[in-house]
Amino acid sequence: MVRALLAATHEVRIAWFGTSAEFSQALALGLPDCEALIVGELDDDSRLLQASEFLNDDWLHCPTVITIGHDVFATALAETAHERDALVIRLASGERVGDARDRQRRLADHAADIHCVASDAHRQQLLQEGVADQSIAIVGCLTAAVLAAMPAIETPETAHMWVAIEHAQTLAAHGDALLEQCDAAAEHAGLSLLCASKGAPAEQQLRSARTASVIVTDSLGYQDLAAAAGIPCIVMAPAGARWDLLTTGAVTVIDRISELPQAVVRGRKHPAVAIVAPPSDAGDLVRQVIDKRAKSPDESPEDEDDAIAPGAPLPTEANATGRTFDDAEIRFLQAAVRSGTLNSTRGTFVNRFEREFAEWLGCKHAIACANGSAAVHCAIAALGLQAGDEVITTPITDMGALTPIFYEGAVAVFADVDPETLNVTAETIEAQLTDRTRAIIVTHLFGRPCEMDKIVALGKQHDLPIVEDAAQAFGASYGDAAIGTIGKVAAFSLQQGKHITTGEGGIVCTDDDEIARRVFLFINKAWGYGDKKPDHYFPALNYRMTELQGAVACAQLPKLDEVVAHRRMIAADLATKLSDLNGIAWPTDPANGRHSYWKFAFRVDEKVLKGGAVALGARMREAGVACMPRYVQKPAFECQLFVEWRKSPVTSLPLLQNPRGQQEGALFERGNYPGSISGLEQVVVLPINECYRPDHVVTVANAVRKAHEDILNG
Ligand SMILES: *Cc1c(COP(=O)(O)O)cnc(C)c1O
Repeated sequence: MVRALLAATHEVRIAWFGTSAEFSQALALGLPDCEALIVGELDDDSRLLQASEFLNDDWLHCPTVITIGHDVFATALAETAHERDALVIRLASGERVGDARDRQRRLADHAADIHCVASDAHRQQLLQEGVADQSIAIVGCLTAAVLAAMPAIETPETAHMWVAIEHAQTLAAHGDALLEQCDAAAEHAGLSLLCASKGAPAEQQLRSARTASVIVTDSLGYQDLAAAAGIPCIVMAPAGARWDLLTTGAVTVIDRISELPQAVVRGRKHPAVAIVAPPSDAGDLVRQVIDKRAKSPDESPEDEDDAIAPGAPLPTEANATGRTFDDAEIRFLQAAVRSGTLNSTRGTFVNRFEREFAEWLGCKHAIACANGSAAVHCAIAALGLQAGDEVITTPITDMGALTPIFYEGAVAVFADVDPETLNVTAETIEAQLTDRTRAIIVTHLFGRPCEMDKIVALGKQHDLPIVEDAAQAFGASYGDAAIGTIGKVAAFSLQQGKHITTGEGGIVCTDDDEIARRVFLFINKAWGYGDKKPDHYFPALNYRMTELQGAVACAQLPKLDEVVAHRRMIAADLATKLSDLNGIAWPTDPANGRHSYWKFAFRVDEKVLKGGAVALGARMREAGVACMPRYVQKPAFECQLFVEWRKSPVTSLPLLQNPRGQQEGALFERGNYPGSISGLEQVVVLPINECYRPDHVVTVANAVRKAHEDILNG
């Protein structure tokens, strides 16, 4: 296929390295004077070889570089080739499972002039990611083409089952039982067992696999091969199945390895039909791209017709315009539904999401749950509070972060906030400490980290655990640490409007094994799953996340870094465009941290702009720019729930047990919260999101500027 592809344009000699051994050998011998260099996924540490090291050598100047695979090497190779102005063709673009490494994979896929994809699904995926349509060619199944080009293969004497497991996650999930089950399955079906081995030459592996009676795998490549050769294929991880092959019946998914023997027997009874590759238009495409490069060497095909009509509505997080959903979520959801297991105790998606989120955040345990309020509840419950214990928190937050405190029989005690950031500080927390204080909750409001150095020191000094409410602060950091890893335990929310979303959803994170265990139990009716003698150990609810949420979460996570990066760009752009306006303070990073811009919250000085935040916000709304002056309108202690609080709304215990119950008047007086009162008076919250493009930023900036001008002019 590759040869045909290039031969269609001009004669080329090609060097193709499929394995690191082949590559090192060629390096030792001196590479042939070739015109195209193809490097497949190299299989061990040598892939860390610096592509630039050899590509910059004078003795190798390939005008065309073709890359396959998604590893570090493929990316580096494509980048170096670009720098050298070589034509980069990327084979099997878009063919990825949406795991945590997806960002890396996307980088590799995007670094090409021509993208050769196997199916329309992959084409759609690249389009969604912003790759230009003109550069994508559907070349059909590459594996099929390679198989067709291989010499005939003798049929081996004994029928065999070929097992190729590529992902460490599969091994981790199934452990030693995997090989035992494979053995059992092969025996059950009267087959001998052959396993792919990392070290063996690719050619030899391909031959063995091609003559298999059944292939068991978690790799996309082997699913391709099975479909091309008409070999029944069983996929171990539902989340890793090629859904387009699933729908054609070429691939069967199993959820539990104990199902393997039956699946193998069934597969052999109903052998798959080979899926023939559609004819390729790649040759034409390559010719066009080469022609274009010859004509205008440095003009890149910018998407001019992408401009937004003036006055077009702004992307909103309430629907698809302001969210990052695409085929990935749909594919994962399909796989979840097809698996027939929609609860997390037996499914794989929630589990996978938990692993990948923990890896993304850099914490030991991430435990998914039903929503952000549940996550806060779990975090608080895991601290083992007693009736009447006090928990210091902020009056400017989501009610879902406060109610759980009552449910644990504790008393929410409000610390004032810094009027500039609306975040609690070590000073305001310290002012509320009593001998009944048992925990501190910090909310990184709008994505701006609290001043954690001092707060952590205060917590240490008084031996108080810190709970981070990071619902609004995915991707934010303080010092060297990610927000969510600094306190004892952290809660995130996946509600519709957060950085990434599953509609409703939550995550609890901690490095503490004991806390993690209690959180797990609290989510699971305190049933000791996996214990020798499980029981219900204490009162707890069902706070589980479903597999449907888990599937969407798995597809959302790989997008998170870009979501945060994009929001930061938009925030910087807005602040720069409007930096000359007097009387407004734009949001900033703390001295030692990074904001992640859940919202773009700025402060309006009433002395300069008459009517302050409310007046400015009203004018912006008139101009069609959604915003929230005063954010939550009033501090939590002024909500009915707290004003009329003489005993706990959940039990009458807390105030009986707590001296605050004897106090005259309201528990929390407005006069003691000057920061909260003035902070809310000044703030306007703009709901920016990652789908804003430059024109949207201009629309918003113009609306702010005009409102500002109108107010100044009276
Ligand atoms: C969204 C949010 C919550 C609650 O999350 P839900 O998923 O809506 O229950 C808690 N705390 C903060 C700071 C939030 O922004």
